Amino acid sequence: MSSIQKNIEQITSQITAAQQKCGRPLGSVQLLAVSKTKPKQAILDAALAGQVAFGENYVQEGADKVDYFSKHHPDLDLEWHFIGPIQSNKTRLVAESFAWVHTIDRAKVAQRLNDQRPEGMQPLQVLIQVNTSSESSKSGTSEEQEIFALAELISSLPNLTLRGLMSIPANVANYQAQLAAFTQLAEMKNTLAQRFPDLPLDTLSMGMSGDMEAAIEAGSTMVRIGTAIFGARDYNKP
Ligand SMILES: *Cc1c(COP(=O)(O)O)cnc(C)c1O
Repeated sequence: MSSIQKNIEQITSQITAAQQKCGRPLGSVQLLAVSKTKPKQAILDAALAGQVAFGENYVQEGADKVDYFSKHHPDLDLEWHFIGPIQSNKTRLVAESFAWVHTIDRAKVAQRLNDQRPEGMQPLQVLIQVNTSSESSKSGTSEEQEIFALAELISSLPNLTLRGLMSIPANVANYQAQLAAFTQLAEMKNTLAQRFPDLPLDTLSMGMSGDMEAAIEAGSTMVRIGTAIFGARDYNKP
């Protein structure tokens, strides 16, 4: 068994343990394997271990991987999530390549993704990225009214389906502080669901290698794990 396969088994049992600890049903948290900067062979190893959903941060790198796996391994039927910041001049490649986008933070990006989604593809499944820690250095929208306005717009766009919220809270080691930030996002999603009862708002994308347990306790339905599956990233490699 490859080390990647072992890591996936280990993360999967950590997810199970975290769900049991807080009494959540098994299978209510999906593992998104974050493969940014990692080679195709690493993705293949993970896919052969049964991993289906992969997250990428860089448009061109991600689109190349999507293209490669759809051509060479169509049988794997991988599901690709875009989780990086989106520049509005890069939306076309995102709209053409990915199944999910976690990082919608403004109207212009939502509108362009909708307009550029190719005909015949499923609607793009999207999340609004929320800046729960109100850090100006992080992308994401933070005001409730802004989130509602963006949700209203997305609900009117036929090629986008709003599924929920995503956040990348400040990197803190304290469990209670992690839990507080994630709980804030979970509450915001509940408010949104009351406001938009017709939308399938079933997704909270929160939790990474360092704060997965707190995210699961707060109600995460999708944890985004890179390092704990693939090892540390080397940003100097091409
Ligand atoms: C890189 C990244 C991750 C994965 O982080 P790890 O600490 O390696 O698990 C998750 N979410 C986003 C948005 C990322 O950019």
